[in-house]
Amino acid sequence: MSHQSDLIATDIDAYLAQHERKELLRFITCGSVDDGKSTLIGRLLYDSKMLYEDQLAQLESESKTHGTTGGDFDPALVTDGLKAEREQGITIDVAYRYFSTARRKFIIADTPGHEQYTRNMATGGSTADLAVILIDARHGVLTQTKRHSFIVSLLGIRHVVVTINKMDLVDFGQDRFDQICAEYREFAARLDLPELHFIPISALGGDNVVEPSPHMPWYRGSTLMNMLETVYIGSDRNLEDFRFPVQYVNRPNLDFRGFCGTIASGIIRKGDEIMVLPARKTSKVKSIVTFDGEVEEAFTPQSITLTLEDEIDCSRGDMIVRPGNVPKVSYDFDAMLVWMSPEAMVPGKTYLFKHTTQSVPGQIESLRYRVDVNTLHRSPAPELQLNEIGRCTIALSQSLFYDSYRRNRSTGAFIMVDRISNVTVAAGMITAREPDKKSKPAPWEIEQSQTPSPSKEVEVVTSQERQARLGQLPATVLFTGLSGSGKTTVARGVERALFDAGRTAIVLDGEDLRRGLSGDLGFSSDDRSENFRRCAQMARLLNDNGFICLAALIAPDESVRAKARELLGEEKSITVYLDAPLEVCRDRDPRGHYADAQEGQMPKLPGAGAPYEPPTNPDLVLKTDESTVDECVEQVVALLRERKLIR
Ligand code: ADP
Repeated sequence: MSHQSDLIATDIDAYLAQHERKELLRFITCGSVDDGKSTLIGRLLYDSKMLYEDQLAQLESESKTHGTTGGDFDPALVTDGLKAEREQGITIDVAYRYFSTARRKFIIADTPGHEQYTRNMATGGSTADLAVILIDARHGVLTQTKRHSFIVSLLGIRHVVVTINKMDLVDFGQDRFDQICAEYREFAARLDLPELHFIPISALGGDNVVEPSPHMPWYRGSTLMNMLETVYIGSDRNLEDFRFPVQYVNRPNLDFRGFCGTIASGIIRKGDEIMVLPARKTSKVKSIVTFDGEVEEAFTPQSITLTLEDEIDCSRGDMIVRPGNVPKVSYDFDAMLVWMSPEAMVPGKTYLFKHTTQSVPGQIESLRYRVDVNTLHRSPAPELQLNEIGRCTIALSQSLFYDSYRRNRSTGAFIMVDRISNVTVAAGMITAREPDKKSKPAPWEIEQSQTPSPSKEVEVVTSQERQARLGQLPATVLFTGLSGSGKTTVARGVERALFDAGRTAIVLDGEDLRRGLSGDLGFSSDDRSENFRRCAQMARLLNDNGFICLAALIAPDESVRAKARELLGEEKSITVYLDAPLEVCRDRDPRGHYADAQEGQMPKLPGAGAPYEPPTNPDLVLKTDESTVDECVEQVVALLRERKLIR
């Protein structure tokens, strides 16, 4: 169905021709039931006159009986057909709705907001140009808003319209709107969302959905419909890198041999030089044939048949590119995976990887980390469960020709299929291993350590190999507390316990550093910070080489500790606070520092004259005046096990 147009009655051919030429915008709506998603979609369809008359009549009567609007038209009922089907037990993961206006054609991917959110969003959003994120004006930015935004960013959707809904329930107040926008912007700064718009709406009343709202004269921006009709998507397509995965070879007779497929990205012209991968044979384009006949040039996403000047070997699964612009060719790569199966991922199991026109068996070699979709924190994990997202290293039995997903949503994406059940278990987005100047990696893709390989002749030891050999994931445990609180004692105890269990940890003791690396430093607050900075750098080197680092330092400043955590990576940092009263520490005085300070031979000690800021959010607190050394050690080891850092 299409929008109302006088042409339909007067000149149907002209109408169809006009409709054909209209640009298509695919968008996804994200929000849960209560945010008013169905109401918004209903309102868009209703106000743009996208409903049949019998549907309308029925809706108007149903609004009187079932509606939640006291007899007025209830837009939410428009999408109720879907709900009814769901109630009957028919599983609908993503519902696509089509509509058009005089300016554009639209496809909405409507994904149910609950439970299966991640999987459904990944399915519905993979081809979307734009995402509409709904926020309830009364609640502001919620965890789910963050989750939706992260997935939108992960899927590479460039245009985001944040609609602050239910403005009628906050008296159409500008302050509330501004406050939510500021809150959202702050969070979104950590994501890769190139274009953000904010619109205050009331889906129920129709304010700023299709018509500008008379209730919010302070808002002078576009209505949602106007935004959808005008947002510029022309430059989103990758027209630079020509990638043509060959779908099949058409050879009707001996004189014609054409390679058919859809142009994944880029432009091709008659006479252009091309290269066929993986054979790397070159030739020139002889002709480009489309459904409408022969053309001079073609571009993404057109489906074409190419014929070449020379008879070169090329079959299904091969890729035609330009000799000067070749994708990566490799059998192993890293990818962000969205796990879609109720059965957890099994690293090492053979799955089928479907990428453009290729299907290749392969395995997940290792899960580097899992991303908490609600907080964006990364943490080590043994596997991914349904709806979880993580970064993996993948090894295939044969090479793929790929680009990073951020550069090319077509040649950078793949799905994983279970070979026995034939069920899609995951969607993958290939991440660039080395920084690509043209497409900056997203924040969650940046490797903590991007150590370049020293030389092409040397095969460097990978973190996976280290992990396998050492049986541990690297991390740094910072033992912080007053002098004499027990940092060195507990750190050495943990080292012993790990050593006995066959693991390898290295103790970095502030006092030891002072005898060598930091021999030039004194005990002023600046010197203490510098000593700690050097220690953090060393810890990072040790972590990068696979070791667990146990750092025993007073580290009195919260801000300095936060910087160290940032350097090491949150998921690799564990803060243990050794909490013992100053009198106890002073009595213990294992190094005689308190006595020296008293006699004026050294500046004031943190906690005794100089400030000591206890950690605001430590991973573990040890009361060393109440527990024995062994008990303290045991608690730290238990934490390392719980975090799955040691086997
Ligand atoms: P720091 O490194 O924090 O300056 P040390 O570990 O050098 O402190 O000294 C702590 C002293 O406290 C040691 O003599 C140790 O035997 C004693 N102690 C008593 N109970 C504990 C405990 N539960 N944890 C750590 N040390 C303890």
